[in-house]
Amino acid sequence: MLLPKEVQLIIKKLEQAGFEAYAVGGCVRDFLLGIEPKDWDITTSALPEQIQKLFPKSVYLNKFGTVTIYEIVGKKSAVGPIEVTTFRIDERYSDQRHPDSVKFTRNLKEDLARRDFTINAIALAPWAREIKNQKSKIKNYQIIDPFKGQEDLKNKLIRAVGEPEKRFSEDALRLLRAIRFAVTLNYKIETKTWLAIKKLAFLIKRISPERIREELIKIILSDKPAEAIEMLKEANLLRYILPELELGVGVSQNKHHIYTIYKHSVLSLKYCPSQDYQVRLAALFHDIAKPQAKRGEGPEATFYNHDVIGAQVSQKILHRLHFSREDINKVGLLIRYHMFYYDVEVVGEAGVRRLISKVGLENIKDLVDLRIADRLGSGVPKAKPYKLRHFEYIVEKVSQDPISVKMLKINGHKIMATLKIKSGPKVGAILDVLLAEVIDDPNKNEPAYLKKRIVGLNKLDLNELRQRAKEKIKITQAEMDTEIKGKYYVK
Ligand code: ATP
Ligand code: MG
Repeated sequence: MLLPKEVQLIIKKLEQAGFEAYAVGGCVRDFLLGIEPKDWDITTSALPEQIQKLFPKSVYLNKFGTVTIYEIVGKKSAVGPIEVTTFRIDERYSDQRHPDSVKFTRNLKEDLARRDFTINAIALAPWAREIKNQKSKIKNYQIIDPFKGQEDLKNKLIRAVGEPEKRFSEDALRLLRAIRFAVTLNYKIETKTWLAIKKLAFLIKRISPERIREELIKIILSDKPAEAIEMLKEANLLRYILPELELGVGVSQNKHHIYTIYKHSVLSLKYCPSQDYQVRLAALFHDIAKPQAKRGEGPEATFYNHDVIGAQVSQKILHRLHFSREDINKVGLLIRYHMFYYDVEVVGEAGVRRLISKVGLENIKDLVDLRIADRLGSGVPKAKPYKLRHFEYIVEKVSQDPISVKMLKINGHKIMATLKIKSGPKVGAILDVLLAEVIDDPNKNEPAYLKKRIVGLNKLDLNELRQRAKEKIKITQAEMDTEIKGKYYVK
């Protein structure tokens, strides 16, 4: 893998102007792991004004030293905007949130020391050259790694830079970032770092909902979201972020369930087939109101209305975490209808139509995914039983436009006007024959062609033609139905 040429160019230009410059942070971590970085960050000894002078098409908005470069040598960066930030030290975090002030420094190591984890504190320059106290020349790039981040990359460890407790006290979002990196990279958290997280979990209270939300989304979208929730619980963080979920810990259900409410919620998230965080959140929260809806104990316990209350509770959670209106509505809707009854023998096409009108056709697939998550999270062996496939078949069947003369790019009025005839069976016959012909060759569904064709048809005896057309339409409809059935493996 090579550094993008934009990154190389920016570093080169800064160096030629007499400054130091390196790729740094998440992009170096990903680069060394062979993962394509989402965005590229450069750290430099140049001050913001000096960076801006070298790159006229750049923007400097905040006071933290970050200049954003959108264009380099007249071309838009192919790897997205590149952030170039002056070496800096963050000073005093009295609110566990933002540094009280930033101080620029001429020292790369000081800049690396302010970063959260060793694997995020590696700097990389794109070509080999001598650096004081560092003898080895490495391939076509040079690595500066004073906190042994590469070793932790090799051992798959998340380790705080410096004293863990101090670092989490400075910025408590790092508590969540540690778990996020652990699950996205499939790493372990180093012991001292982990103990500090458990001890200081309460500090997360002071972090803004937006920052928590962004980490939560990344956690939920990782390959190990269920493990992350378990880690959050172990770390004592869950009680501050999602206390409602903890209410289900140790709460048994009834004879239909082998897992406690909490365990089932986590497993539903684990097995959720959707890559969409809204659906995954719905899987995690779908039984969130079961603890409060529970009536009775033992095998006969009931949970009436837990779907309706659950929709409300989940919406309250998402509101608290400043999720978007759209997220709140979508998750609430899925949870509200997660109990939908799908025994088609009993419900019938009309019932499925009613469900579609309540949920919206565009949400049915997600509702089915939620159902699959719910089933697999209950410990049943099969994701999609016959009934659920049959439900999907009926959904597609009732939501597809039937084959009808409405599909034609000509209508009865037009025919009457063109042929100067009154309404009557002949108009219907012409439409049916046209439809049969268009089924055979969809290219014929063109106004100009159809207009010419009706003049020809008008001269024929249409009775027999119409019979054949009707037969054709019926067979086509049946074929389509068979095709949809095949798609869902139903008879
Ligand atoms: P991602 O892959 O999500 O972009 P990242 O590690 O690049 O992960 P960013 O939020 O893009 O994370 O931050 C870039 C770099 O800035 C990090 O790698 C880290 O060095 C530093 N950093 C970010 N947030 C913090 C923080 N809260 N405390 C200390 N350093 C941080
Ligand atoms: Mg990043």
